[in-house]
Amino acid sequence: MIYLGVCGWPVAHSRSPQMHNAALAAVGLHDWRYLRLPLPPELFAETVRALPAAGFRGANVTIPHKRAALTLADRASDAARAIGAANTLTFENGDIVADNTDAPGLLAALPESPAGRSALVLGAGGAGRAAAWALVGAGADVTIWNRTAERARALAAAVGARATDAPEPAEILVNCTSIGLDDPEATFKALPIEADELGAGSLVVDMVYRAGGTQLLEAARTRGARVVDGLEILVAQGAASFERWTGMEAPREAMRAAATTIAEP
Ligand code: NAP
Repeated sequence: MIYLGVCGWPVAHSRSPQMHNAALAAVGLHDWRYLRLPLPPELFAETVRALPAAGFRGANVTIPHKRAALTLADRASDAARAIGAANTLTFENGDIVADNTDAPGLLAALPESPAGRSALVLGAGGAGRAAAWALVGAGADVTIWNRTAERARALAAAVGARATDAPEPAEILVNCTSIGLDDPEATFKALPIEADELGAGSLVVDMVYRAGGTQLLEAARTRGARVVDGLEILVAQGAASFERWTGMEAPREAMRAAATTIAEP
């Protein structure tokens, strides 16, 4: 048996096990399994170092271990280093290799290239860092807002974007805060945008995904904007990790179906 998994704390609600096990079955990798690995921070490094000997080929990493995953790796991709966080570890010839598939996952989920477009990134946590780095690299003109303004300034300086306390509407809006997850009604109170700014011609991306959708995407859709659901980004980053580990093309439809089924109440 060859193992994959997702390390987090907590990790009970992760959809990655269902999504990846559906993918493994769809491509015929019947002797591979993707497991949930609940790891408190004090056990993260020593447990991950023991995974290759236990039959693991790789692992996803989620909150709160994305920075620690980069630190413990022997090698890291340019994306993981620049973003300062890894969501994918691959065990390769005795080395732990760190990667960040949140960034290419976001770009893959967009309906078209963001090159030359204005983009507003809300948030400067792990998802915000990945989105800002990806969009700048793809040629967008990126502005970053964050509740804690200092983090927005530090991120903007690191990736070559602008930070702002009072954002102007942009052609592409990417919500990378956790707003909208637990309390949808808080969305337009907590974020520095008005629902009326989200009209035809704009593209609105929400990293957050929840059963029934988010209020941000609902408001955007109602006003004629194009939208990208966080579930699509989950599938895209998962597909990139899957391809890294298996060397096979990821069965995106099977992954989307598994992730969506779980998203429904
Ligand atoms: P994180 O590192 O903890 O960052 C959280 C971000 O949300 C920070 O920018 C934080 O601002 C902001 N925030 C939290 N509460 C807020 C509030 N009340 N008002 C305004 N801003 C607030 O988390 P993360 O890893 O970036 O994840 C952010 C969200 O994206 C989560 O919901 C996560 O599930 C989702 N996500 C989705 C995918 C996907 O594949 N779809 C991938 C990664 C993440 P401060 O800096 O001021 O605290």
